[in-house]
Amino acid sequence: MALIVHKYGGTSMGSTERIRNVAKRVAKWARAGHQMVVVPSAMSGETNRLLGLAKELAPASANDSYHRELDALAATGEQASSALLAIALQSEGMEAVSYAGWQVTIKTNSAYTKARIESIDDKRVRADLDAGKVVIITGFQGVDGEGHVTTLGRGGSDTSAVAVAAALKAHECLIYTDVDGVYTTDPRVVPEARRLHTVSFEEMLEMASMGSKVLQIRSVEFAGKYKVPLRVLSSFTPWDINIDEEAKSGTLISFEEDEQMEQAIVSGIAFNRDEAKISILGVPDTPGIAYQILGAVAEANIEVDVIIQNVSKDGKTDFSFTVHRNDYARAIELLKTAVLPKLGAQEITGDAKICKVSIVGIGMRSHVGIAAKMFRCLSEEGINIQMISTSEIKTSVVIDEKYMELAVRALHKAFELEQPTAA
Ligand code: ADP
Ligand code: ASP
Ligand code: MG
Repeated sequence: MALIVHKYGGTSMGSTERIRNVAKRVAKWARAGHQMVVVPSAMSGETNRLLGLAKELAPASANDSYHRELDALAATGEQASSALLAIALQSEGMEAVSYAGWQVTIKTNSAYTKARIESIDDKRVRADLDAGKVVIITGFQGVDGEGHVTTLGRGGSDTSAVAVAAALKAHECLIYTDVDGVYTTDPRVVPEARRLHTVSFEEMLEMASMGSKVLQIRSVEFAGKYKVPLRVLSSFTPWDINIDEEAKSGTLISFEEDEQMEQAIVSGIAFNRDEAKISILGVPDTPGIAYQILGAVAEANIEVDVIIQNVSKDGKTDFSFTVHRNDYARAIELLKTAVLPKLGAQEITGDAKICKVSIVGIGMRSHVGIAAKMFRCLSEEGINIQMISTSEIKTSVVIDEKYMELAVRALHKAFELEQPTAA
């Protein structure tokens, strides 16, 4: 008998019919003798609907008390879907109980809308499991030290599931979603994308952080830190398929180097349209400018991604970096009011219509010329590269948003990532 955590995404929980299907699948696993913990997302569209209602009443604000209410609001989506799943399981003849994050307790810090999990108390869950119940825990949320409900950022139910699996030392965490695994790139953009049987943890970490939304980045970080066996698989297979086959389906996130992503040099392509570029022009090129600019940005809890500083000319330089689009207006405002006057810089410009495209692969460590091949491919398509950033196993470029799909398709082809076509 093993303790297994299942996570079901929004589409998988999207209607009462789908919830019933999830309940039947979970019941099958429980009847096979497993102790089952299930972490559902809100029904598809629900989180957007709730946040949309808030926007109708008040425009986005940097105010902490506003963000507190956004979290109190958005967290209800998962509370509803969790209770519905418990009801569906009970109607399948199972004993089931649902808990919100605060009832478990899943303790987080107080960074509303992007809180981080600090600890999980497993007592209550274990007692229920020992009593033979299926335990359902809301995804996406926790509670801070003062008892305020917090949420973990969009896509955060993945992180809830992996963190719960880590806390319970689960045998495996299965992430059920609307695709049947992790692909070489988003199959919605490149229909020829190929499913990977395994992907190394490091590659998955880069793919997620570069924008592959199939797993939230923090869930992969958790899996790495606590060595949680993790698999991404489809919730759209018939619920009554053979359980052993199901357990081997999808994509395994592997911690073994030699099992890595099919030994390709480039294993996947990720993209992200959630960023915006900010450039500060005519900055006096003196020691400490990067700190003055980025220090202020970091203090405002705004994450910075790609950074470039140009060669200086006549003692002045240009400094550019990207931030999440949600933080764009706030970052510009902050720089204009608090940083530019002190720096004596000439101008600040911004561009929210950019995207980042990245190639990822462990094989890049031991092969030269991969980045050059990427740049050649983009130049052949007439795509201008605005910024570049590299790590050992990835190269990212920032380009005009309107070329994103073209770039992803061209690179997917150039690195021969398509499905082998039947001869
Ligand atoms: P869920 O609601 O189950 O959490 P998400 O929409 O968050 O589902 O994530 C699944 C989606 O991720 C897929 O439908 C797919 O469009 C997208 N995706 C992006 N990159 C990849 C990739 N490399 N492999 C598979 N899916 C990907
Ligand atoms: N419901 C949340 C969202 O839409 C969390 C999740 O689905 O993982 O972002
Ligand atoms: Mg998701």
